[in-house]
Amino acid sequence: MRESTKNISAFILKSEPYKEKDLLITIFSKEEGKLILSARSARKSSSKLGGHLQVFSLSDLMVVNGKSFDYIGAAKNNKSYLNIREDFNKMQIAGKAVYVFNRLVNTKVQDEDLYYLLKSFLDHLNKDKIDDLNSNDVNKLEMYYLSFLWQLLSILGYRPNLYTCYYCKKRISEGINYFNLDKASLFCNHKEIKGPIINLSSNIVKYLRFLNKYSFDKVELLKINKTDLKQLKNITNKYIMYQLEEYLRKY
Ligand SMILES: [Zn+2]
Repeated sequence: MRESTKNISAFILKSEPYKEKDLLITIFSKEEGKLILSARSARKSSSKLGGHLQVFSLSDLMVVNGKSFDYIGAAKNNKSYLNIREDFNKMQIAGKAVYVFNRLVNTKVQDEDLYYLLKSFLDHLNKDKIDDLNSNDVNKLEMYYLSFLWQLLSILGYRPNLYTCYYCKKRISEGINYFNLDKASLFCNHKEIKGPIINLSSNIVKYLRFLNKYSFDKVELLKINKTDLKQLKNITNKYIMYQLEEYLRKY
């Protein structure tokens, strides 16, 4: 049988040992979405492949049809994001983002927007010089991460409704901030509404609207204090956990 090959451009999401000397590499490509590929003998010290397959680098890959897994015949680093790798805080943020991306994005999902989201996130993270001692900068990294998450949720079809009441369809007015996780929507104060409701401050609603409207170039201009950031992280995590359960049931 003739081997068939294809060339793709992909972000490395995960790399794990496989068999004796191989790696199993999870990637997200512009052309075919998420794929799991083997890299034969990539753990041998003589292998040229390994160095081109670091997590969250962008690589050009030649993929060959294989029996159990398609495998990587050749790899060339396109972008390795050195500024991220040299900074502990950035590494942590990039690692978290790529982990959640890999958990939420299914191999059946092929969407170029997901590829461009990863690209624009890593490009922004790589670009900025961050001073470890400056807490504003650490907040900024956290905001990048939150921005990434909300954009990811939006592409996957989990964008929340932050403007009108789910129940009566009226526009949400200032100071009324009941968020229902089940319906992924804000509500006015209706007594008949049951389900998991979170009470948000007006500030948090504003931040959520902002994160659901703008991308990294606007988010990097945003200032946020520690208390608000903590609340924003909290609601984001709750929302993801809730939607993730539903998402996993669906597939
Ligand atoms: Zn209402």
